[in-house]
Amino acid sequence: MGATKTSGRKRIKRRSELKAKSNGLPMLRNSERTSFRNCRWAWNLSFNRTLQPRTASPPLRFGTLIHKSLAAHYIPGKKRGESPVVAFEKFYNEELKIQEKMGFRDEDGKWQDAGELGIAMMTNYLDQYGADDQWEVLVTEQPFEVIVNHPDTGEPWFVFVGVIDGAWRNLGTKKIWIPDHKTTSGIGPTTVKHLVLDDQAGGYWTWGVDWLYEKGYLKPNQKLAGMLYNFMRKAIPDERPYKMRKGVRQYLNADGTVSKKQPSPYFLRQPIYRDEMDKQAARTRALLDYGEVEMVRQGILTVNKNPGWMTCPNCWAIDICELHEAGHDWEDMVRATTQEWDPYAEHEIYAGESR
Ligand code: SF4
Repeated sequence: MGATKTSGRKRIKRRSELKAKSNGLPMLRNSERTSFRNCRWAWNLSFNRTLQPRTASPPLRFGTLIHKSLAAHYIPGKKRGESPVVAFEKFYNEELKIQEKMGFRDEDGKWQDAGELGIAMMTNYLDQYGADDQWEVLVTEQPFEVIVNHPDTGEPWFVFVGVIDGAWRNLGTKKIWIPDHKTTSGIGPTTVKHLVLDDQAGGYWTWGVDWLYEKGYLKPNQKLAGMLYNFMRKAIPDERPYKMRKGVRQYLNADGTVSKKQPSPYFLRQPIYRDEMDKQAARTRALLDYGEVEMVRQGILTVNKNPGWMTCPNCWAIDICELHEAGHDWEDMVRATTQEWDPYAEHEIYAGESR
C-alpha cells in the first residue's frame, strides 16, 4: 500500500471514538473504509479530526430521501405501501422546513431543482415497476450494528454499523435477495462490472446479513441468493410517448414510429449471486482494512497521501492538500473552511450508505 513504518509518531486521537454507542468500541462503516482506502490523508481529516467542509447551504441528502421513500413503498408483506412519489414529496418538505427554520433560503434554486428531480424520478420508477408485485418484502431499511471480534484474540475489536435496504423474496422463484438501492448519474456497461467484488455490499452481505439472522428477521432455513442492485439514474425522464418491448422502453416519434434517439436507461436491476465463500472473502478484507486503520491510529503506519486522477479531482480537501504539499500554512485553511461533524451520528450513517 506504499505505507511506511515510522517510530515515535504521534498517536492519533479520534474524536468520534468517544461517541461510540456500543460498549465504547470504535465504529466502522462502509464510507469510512472507502475513504481510508482512497486516501489516508483525506480520511484523517474527515474521520479522525472529524472535519468536513463548511458549506454556504446545507447539503440536500438526496440519496437518503430516495431511500426513505422506497422504504415507505416497500413495507413488509406482499403489497406495496405508500407511493414513493408522495413519500418523497413529504420527506423533502419536512427536510426543507427544518433547514428553513435554521435560516436557510434556497437562493440559487438548488433545493428546488433537487425536489423536482426526486418527484420526477419516483414517478418514473412507478411507471417502470408498477406494483412490483413479484416481491414479498421480508425486511425493509434496517440500521444494524454488529460487534466484530479480533481474529486473533477473539476479543471485541470494533462495531460495524450500516443500513441494510431490505430482504426481498421473489414470489416466482422463491429466492431471497438483499436489495441495494443506488442513485447514479449514469447507467452503462461499466455500472455493473465491479459488482461481484463490490466491497460496499460486502459490509451488508457479511455483518448486515448476520444481524438479520441474529435478530430473527430471517430464519436459519431462509438462505439468501445474493444482492439485487436497484439502480436509478438521476434524470428527468424523456417526455416523449413510449412503448414497452421486452421490459425495455422504446420512445416514439410524433408519427408513432420508434425513434432512433433513445435515452440511456433510467433503471437497472442487477442480481449478483453471492455465497459463503465470498462472504468470508469480504469479511477478511474488511478485517485487514480495519487492522490498517488501527495501525495508522497507533502511529505504526503513516497517514499517506494517495494523489491521482481517481482520487484528487473529487476530494473535498484538495485546496488544503495543495497548500500542505507546497509547505504553506494549510492549518489556517483548515480553520477557515471546515467545521466539525460526527461521522457516526445516525443521520450521517444513513446518508453515507445512501448513494
Ligand atoms: S487531494 Fe488527493 S492526495 Fe490530497 S487529500 Fe485529497 S485525495 Fe488525498
